[in-house]
Amino acid sequence: MKTRRLVLTFPENIVTKPITYKLVKNFDLEFNILRAEITTEMEGKILIEIKGNKNQIEKGIEYLTKEGVTIQEASKDIIMDKDQCIHCGLCTSLCITKALTLDKINFKLNFNKDKCILCGFCQNSCPVNAIKIKM
Ligand code: SF4
Ligand code: SF4
Repeated sequence: MKTRRLVLTFPENIVTKPITYKLVKNFDLEFNILRAEITTEMEGKILIEIKGNKNQIEKGIEYLTKEGVTIQEASKDIIMDKDQCIHCGLCTSLCITKALTLDKINFKLNFNKDKCILCGFCQNSCPVNAIKIKM
């Protein structure tokens, strides 16, 4: 039995299809949805933990990809170093779930960990390495 944590991105045209249900039915996989978000572009983003036979997981991933789902390995944790942050806002433009936002009044960075799906997109945008993603 193998476990993988993945971030799945569903484009708007397939966001309502029962695709994840088929992972259970057709590939005998177990999965837990750890976080889910609909972005402002109406994409669905979910962080899942998927368990099963290694080959079946690969087949399930192949199926998802064919259906138009984008898949990436999820990180394990994110650490924001608030002392390092210079509140430039660069990371906010890459954060699809709006876990990172700039306060409209004081222009300080806000980080809402509950909205973070650990996609890791923000990490490389930071000029002062204030964002650390653990794999
Ligand atoms: S890893 Fe970064 S870009 Fe991804 S959801 Fe979390 S804060 Fe946003
Ligand atoms: S990119 Fe880095 S320095 Fe800029 S707001 Fe985000 S965490 Fe802060």
